[in-house]
Amino acid sequence: MISAELTRWPWNRTPAFLMIDDIGDMRVGEGREGDWGFSGPGLDSTWEFFNETYRRAVPSLRIVAFACVGRFLNAPETAGLRVQRGGKIGELLRIIGKERYAELGFHGMDHTAANGRPECAGVPDFGEWLARGRTLLEEMAETRVIGGKCPGYEGYERVAESLKPAGFRWWADAWTPVRGRRRNIHGGREIIASSSGVRLFPANIGAYTGLYKKRVSITEKIAMPMKRSRLLARARFLVEKGIPVSIQTHYAALRPDGTRQVYNLYDDRPLLLPLLVGLDGLVWWALPREICDYLDTMDCLSFRVDGFKIIIDCDNPLWEVSFRVHPCPSFLRAPDGYRVYPKVGLFTFLPRPGEYEAVF
Ligand SMILES: [Zn+2]
Repeated sequence: MISAELTRWPWNRTPAFLMIDDIGDMRVGEGREGDWGFSGPGLDSTWEFFNETYRRAVPSLRIVAFACVGRFLNAPETAGLRVQRGGKIGELLRIIGKERYAELGFHGMDHTAANGRPECAGVPDFGEWLARGRTLLEEMAETRVIGGKCPGYEGYERVAESLKPAGFRWWADAWTPVRGRRRNIHGGREIIASSSGVRLFPANIGAYTGLYKKRVSITEKIAMPMKRSRLLARARFLVEKGIPVSIQTHYAALRPDGTRQVYNLYDDRPLLLPLLVGLDGLVWWALPREICDYLDTMDCLSFRVDGFKIIIDCDNPLWEVSFRVHPCPSFLRAPDGYRVYPKVGLFTFLPRPGEYEAVF
């Protein structure tokens, strides 16, 4: 006789990924920290900076890039800075669309309406806006798009009913950062399903250095190691609870109104990079669409144990699941005869329906 149980996540590892917001056809000022997508994947682009900094340090990192397909406008042009449009955004989107480690999410047509409000706060017809935006992004990037986010996390309730009909499978609906320190760490949220079956992903953590001024005070610099360990402790809190480590940031740093974008790849590098490096090896780096595949698989999966057999029922397995089996056999013989050997004490495989026999 054996007993068997499923782990909560594949390989018993909490999923984690980086959300990079606000990719659009704009470049502000002369430095590359003002490149929001205008420069495409060129040498002087934020994409190049991201790759040489973050991807190089953590090659298995997974990212969601939230892009705007229209006249990207995240802030009014009030700073007298040079603002360039009409660049290589299409090329950038196609590259992101092709990468195995990246997924594209819809983040509005223009991001912000003429009245200065984020678009989910009020467009004439949400259903039409979502469907047109998603299709346009798919055409530009030449890839499938199944997720998105309201600019500024504002107005999810207004788009909620229109998401499924517009072809979305997941949506980043809320900013629910984990807070506190030491024994009083709390917050973060699970992935939940909307009433229409769209999976809702929260953003659970952000790396904020506060080093956004040209001249950073010495006290702020001294505080960095403390901030770093606090942030890692918060991330570990999520990892241990199995709550997805969805990390919030923005693509570029300099906005057209001359202010710094709070949470960005440039200014927060002293915290964000150690966070990602610290998580590497502990988490399941996964795209939202992959997490959806896993959760869909778990939803349709049922099993029972009969003697030395695990009998699995699963309509449409899309992702591997992990079983813990007691006592641990040498291998499981799958219905089609191949052997599943244990790794780190777990049997991980695509759960095709049928009998899996424990062989000792
Ligand atoms: Zn945004």
